[in-house]
Amino acid sequence: MIVMKFGGSSVANAERIRHVAGIIRKFADRRPIVVLSAMGDTTDDLLEAAEAALAGKVTIDAVEQLHKKTATELHISADDIDPLLGELRTLLTGISMLKEVTPRSRDYLVSFGERLSVRLMSAYLNSISVRAEFRDAWDVGFISDSSYTNADLLPETWENIRNKLGAYAGGKPGDGKPMPIVTGFIARDQKGFITTLGRGGSDLTATLLGAALRAQEVQTWKDVDGILTTDPRIVKEARTVPVATYDEVAELAYFGAQVLHPRSMQPCLQTGTPVRVKNSYNIEAPGSIIVTSHETKPSPVRAITTKKNVTLIDIVSTRMLGQYGFLAKVFESFAQHEISVDVVATSEVSISLTVDGKKLNFAACRHDLEKYASIEVKKEKAIVTIICDVMRSSSILAATFDALAEENINVQMISQGASKVNISMICESDEADRVVQVLHERYFGKDGLCELCGGISASGGNV
Ligand code: ADP
Ligand code: ASP
Ligand code: MG
Repeated sequence: MIVMKFGGSSVANAERIRHVAGIIRKFADRRPIVVLSAMGDTTDDLLEAAEAALAGKVTIDAVEQLHKKTATELHISADDIDPLLGELRTLLTGISMLKEVTPRSRDYLVSFGERLSVRLMSAYLNSISVRAEFRDAWDVGFISDSSYTNADLLPETWENIRNKLGAYAGGKPGDGKPMPIVTGFIARDQKGFITTLGRGGSDLTATLLGAALRAQEVQTWKDVDGILTTDPRIVKEARTVPVATYDEVAELAYFGAQVLHPRSMQPCLQTGTPVRVKNSYNIEAPGSIIVTSHETKPSPVRAITTKKNVTLIDIVSTRMLGQYGFLAKVFESFAQHEISVDVVATSEVSISLTVDGKKLNFAACRHDLEKYASIEVKKEKAIVTIICDVMRSSSILAATFDALAEENINVQMISQGASKVNISMICESDEADRVVQVLHERYFGKDGLCELCGGISASGGNV
């Protein structure tokens, strides 16, 4: 069996749903379990509706019109979505009366997107004689902790999934069992409240299903030709990376590439289930495959990514010179104040580290640190991360600094990740795109030839 996941852009309207249903039908013999995101920008529309409700305006127009129009154009009944639209309106009325959205009610609110899309797809598949059944994630065993807006799935989810979907997964084509069309992104906690797995969480739903059921592969269908050498919105010549490892993709996602959810590699890393990234707009393109390790030596650099809105914190303590425990003390403070640290570089008496600048509340932590160190906070920085074979870091770094020096770009900190697949640099936020463009051209060339690998195709994956 396989898992097929379609992101929001792949199911944005009636035409796209028809097209995707055609792709699903092609794979019907491989016993797919389908995972869907919300249609198009529905998640954002729902979040906007909450803001409007807080300001006293209850409207579900954008969401209602899109889903009703889609049902009409697909010639399917709206019976399965009408009750949800009613419930959504009631929820927004509640928000407007209370003038409050908690993380828990926000999760309940955005869950409507995925719940609506699976109902439409399932109805449409049945209308074209592909027997299908929509399933809300909790009905197939997804249970999470209560970290609303970014919940973690609990370990029992694995067993639950096998209990709920094992019979379908192990069945034979033609045995009449309907194909499950499962909501991505959402779960329920032990108290029964709806949770979400963080933006882009449908990828994680799909990989966990695939790992738990030991699928032949998990396919994630997007609007690009797979994992690309960088964000195509920054470098339009970005190329497909044919083969990448779970570790490489996890780092790529963590350091800013939107293409897959940062935690989505974890389940398949445990089981070795291959993950394929395909383009639903370009079915013939081979896409990318994500596996445990490269079988043959790949090119030195796999991809480049950037994460903006980062704050750089320099912590200097001459008092700690020659004493042990400096690092431990610093990180204890960050842990205590629940501030997550991304990139770190240290010397005997100083630590430079980066934290996410968006939701940073550093005052209390700073107060603790200032008892023994002087602190400098630098905002509006960006991390540029090179996903590469760190064993070949000398030649990669030489090419990097050469290219940046030519462009008069200074990096302010550099760190070689212990993961062996990333080198990260800090630069000004407004220079980040330029850094990515310069490095992309140096590593991958305009003609697709990689300088670092002696003129071999850079995107050729295993060379
Ligand atoms: P989905 O529709 O499956 O949720 P997303 O929109 O979350 O897909 O992710 C795909 C988008 O990620 C692409 O359209 C692309 O603009 C962006 N992206 C950023 N970095 C990369 C990268 N390295 N490789 C592929 N896509 C990337
Ligand atoms: N619909 C959710 C989002 O927009 C989840 C997803 O697309 O994977 O983030
Ligand atoms: Mg996504």
